Amino acid sequence: MDKKLVICDFDGTMSPKDMGYRVLKHFASNGDWESISKAYEAGIIGSQEAYRKASSLYGNVTKEEMIRYVESQGEIDPFFPEFYTLCTSKKCDVKIVSDGLDFYIHTLLKKYGLDIEYYANSACFNSDKTLSIEFPHKNIECNLCGNCKSTILRNFRKCYDLIIYIGDGYSDICPAQNADLVFAKEVLYEKLKAKGKKCVYFKNFTNIYKYFRTNTILD
Ligand SMILES: [Mg+2]
Repeated sequence: MDKKLVICDFDGTMSPKDMGYRVLKHFASNGDWESISKAYEAGIIGSQEAYRKASSLYGNVTKEEMIRYVESQGEIDPFFPEFYTLCTSKKCDVKIVSDGLDFYIHTLLKKYGLDIEYYANSACFNSDKTLSIEFPHKNIECNLCGNCKSTILRNFRKCYDLIIYIGDGYSDICPAQNADLVFAKEVLYEKLKAKGKKCVYFKNFTNIYKYFRTNTILD
């Protein structure tokens, strides 16, 4: 039997709200975070540089405050749990690969009682109430994204026969091109279409669930 893996982006995909953006908007009150965000979206800077610039905008904030905010404001796609149950019942692994921050992914998985392996950037809460961000999965040859999802996908190739990718944003463009089946929306959908890479449009996880069932993807 083929070994199958679903790689799922977090912000804007598994979590309909972009938690990274919301956390930034809520806590980084001092400084021009909007120009950082625009430079990232225009491709002028990568997420590593965006995070370095943005992390200096956080001040006087504790881990507990941020976690409380994520717990109250964060949510995952209401159709995700059913999709996840389908995958696990068919022995298909699911992993989250995110260019966001580990603490809010951890917080939201806990909130919904989900135990899913994730790969993300690390938020370090310093004792002087500042925040620094580390990139344990960066690719030193490229150094654009904080988390190089392409490297992670390439490493999983050794263990899986079929890799399904689900995403929506800039950091998904590279890895999605090397997946066997792609579900895309927003920027990712537009960019893949422009590049001529086949992908399936999705709005939420009920679309992917139905596609899996109709096309017997996991059988
Ligand atoms: Mg995303």
